This record gives sequence, structure tokens and C-alpha cells, in this order.
Amino acid sequence: MWKVVYLVYTGAAILLMSSCASKKQFAETNKVYEKQVEQLAEVIKQPLPTPHAMAAAGLPSPGLEGQRTDFEWVGTVNFNMRKPNFVVLHHTAQDSIQQTLRTFTLERTQVSAHYVIDKTGKVYQLLNDYLRAWHAGNGRWGSVTDVNSASIGIELDNNGLEPYSEIQIANLLSLLDTLKTNYKIPTENFIGHGDIAPGRKVDPGVNFPWKRLAEKGFGLWYDDILQTPPPSFNPLDGLRILGYDTRNATAAILAFKRHYVPTETTEEWTPFALSVLYNLYIKKTTL
Ligand SMILES: [Zn+2]
Repeated sequence: MWKVVYLVYTGAAILLMSSCASKKQFAETNKVYEKQVEQLAEVIKQPLPTPHAMAAAGLPSPGLEGQRTDFEWVGTVNFNMRKPNFVVLHHTAQDSIQQTLRTFTLERTQVSAHYVIDKTGKVYQLLNDYLRAWHAGNGRWGSVTDVNSASIGIELDNNGLEPYSEIQIANLLSLLDTLKTNYKIPTENFIGHGDIAPGRKVDPGVNFPWKRLAEKGFGLWYDDILQTPPPSFNPLDGLRILGYDTRNATAAILAFKRHYVPTETTEEWTPFALSVLYNLYIKKTTL
């Protein structure tokens, strides 16, 4: 009995110590975060942000030439924040959660995400949902070319080869539920980094349980009963309608297969892969 109490006590003490340690470890970057948020607040407080305020907040400074400043200000009372409308899922491709947190708090890496979920299911939040994280790179989905501005980025601690742990996926599902509820994100707008950057990124990889997510309302999935597409169906049109960037057709096909038909690793269309695509295409066009 005492042994159990002792173990629980030391376990709690270790947890407490590690949480203090990480608080101390990130105390400096937490201060930088707060300062940067204050600078952004200064920008949006003004009707016309000044180049000085923009530069201080790390935003591209508007050119002075051709800048109109002769507007008459009439502040409306009806507005709120612009909100995220997509969720992009990633795997970290790193060896430890500490390595990932360090990457996201070093200025020189120029990368970040809103959330990181470790293998024990613990969720780290790195910035406010309304702010723009740097996770999508040159991604493109449908007509959205600035995916960072429109999305929440979630990183899963996974090296890209290992299976995802049950607790990690369970906590991801509850986070997705919160985000979908808070921002009314459409079901089809839960996508992967590999989907928006074909040929460049593969995360969250072939081990990611997309079907399970879709069953909970996060992302599309195909029906059990499929039909053969008509001869007039052009698979590249289908991929484009789903959202894929088809400028590199091979990369788009491989990205699609990684997500929906991970057993296939070639760019050739099999009857099954074509039927899956046609089914999703019909779904997307009838949403
Ligand atoms: Zn990624």
C-alpha cells in the first residue's frame, strides 16, 4: 500500500518537475511570443497600419509609393476575427517531442504549427488559433494558395515510419472536434500536408488512419460500394475537383493514393483507384 502511495507520489513529483522544467525551458520564447502578439495588436488597432508598425510586427511593409491615405474613417461596429477554415495534419519526422518543440521555438527554423501531439497524447499549443502559423509552406488546395492564412496546423510526433499510437489518435480526434465546433470547419477541409504539397511532402504518411477520421466527420472517405466511372471521366479533373494541385500529374496521383489507396504505390490507375476517385469526385461535387 505504502509502496503504491510512494510510487504515485514520486510519479506526480516527476510530472510536476518536468512541467516546471519545460516552463523554464521555454520562458524566454514565451516572452517573445507575447511581445510579438502585442506588436500585431498595434498593427490592427490602426485603420491604416503604418510601415513602422508593420515592420515591428514582422509583416511585409507596404510600399510608400502609390499608398492612398486619404480615406475618411468611419469605424463599423459589426466585425470580428477572421477564422481558420481548414485543418492541415502533419507528422514531425523528428525523433522526439523535445526536438520538435525546440524546432518550433527557434527563430532560424521559420517553421511552426498551432498544435503538437506527442505519443502519450499530450497536446501542446504553440500559438493562438487566430494567428498564422508557418506549417504549410508552398502548399495549394483548390483555389487556396495561402494555406497558412486559412488553416490550423497540427503536428503529430511520429517519424513517418512507425504506427500512430491509439492515445495520440484519440486526443487528435478530440482536438479536431473542438476545432470543427469552434470554427465550423467543413468536413472536407481536414487534409494532410502531403495532399497540399504533392511531390514535396508525404506527411502524415501511409500509416495515418484517414478512414477513422472520416468516420468521425473529419475529411472525406469513399463508400463501400463503388461504381466504375463512365469513359468520359478524366481522372485529372477528378483530382483537381477534390483540391489536388495537378500541375505535376504523377505527384498528384501518388498523393491521392497515399491518402485513399495506400496499398498502391505507382502512378498507374487501377480500376479500384479510379472507382475510389470517381466516388469522391461525386461526393465533392454534390456537397
Ligand atoms: Zn508537414
